[in-house]
Amino acid sequence: MSSTTRRGFLMSTGGSVAALSMGTDFLNARQLPGQSPSETSGWQDGNFSKVMAIAAHPGDVFFAMGAPVAVATHFGGQGSFLSLSLGEKGSLTIPAEQYGSSQREAAQKAAELLGAKALFLQYPDGEVPINDEAKFAVCDLIRQYKPLTIVTHWKGSWHKDHRACYDIVEDAIFYAGLPGLVREEPSHEVRKLLFADNWEDATGFIADTYLDITSVYDRWLNACSAFPMWRGETGFRYNDYYGSLAVERGCLSNFKRAVALMAPAEQRVQHIRTP
Ligand SMILES: [Zn+2]
Repeated sequence: MSSTTRRGFLMSTGGSVAALSMGTDFLNARQLPGQSPSETSGWQDGNFSKVMAIAAHPGDVFFAMGAPVAVATHFGGQGSFLSLSLGEKGSLTIPAEQYGSSQREAAQKAAELLGAKALFLQYPDGEVPINDEAKFAVCDLIRQYKPLTIVTHWKGSWHKDHRACYDIVEDAIFYAGLPGLVREEPSHEVRKLLFADNWEDATGFIADTYLDITSVYDRWLNACSAFPMWRGETGFRYNDYYGSLAVERGCLSNFKRAVALMAPAEQRVQHIRTP
């Protein structure tokens, strides 16, 4: 593909994706003439001022979902990281109980570095159940922390815990927003659900939202480095993958660094009023 054609492709796809800027764009507007202002809108609605990331395992919640939470706290908002399990069976050499404790400690340290809260539900790693107990437990945390945006796993995953998390979160959001459902906390409406760009959840993942993470990139990577597995100790080079993915996603969205996200189909519906 010639550079001219590729640039045309970027411009033509720009109409169907949202690029959320924090006002620190790396972009050189002259490189992409004709970009409409709407392509970098979405920040003003405030949805990224309270972000909760919910993942099956602590690694996922920080590596694949941590940057949007870092954006929230960096700009004076609130962020939280909820892991449904400790990912305690993730090491081939360290016993599960010991590894679970180190995962919890790493998550707490990473959250602290980002000015966010680390939350845990302790379902067994590999056995996260899809049931109402789990859905109500997540619902209660949503009602307690009141996020406006939730980032979680996309369902196109080979990992059963990730698929379970997707199901749990969808229903937990529904339960959280139902005023007639009486729990300890009053109902809370989550405005936005977004799925994270995770190497394990890639089947059918189509990015439709790009979030500018330029100003939090270094802090986010530093927080992730609290986890030994970040450096590849469990067999996958998370640091290289997620560090360079943010560069690649930035190239596609015209930010210096970005994360790609995907909205549920119903959230992508647009209502266009004619004059
Ligand atoms: Zn995982």
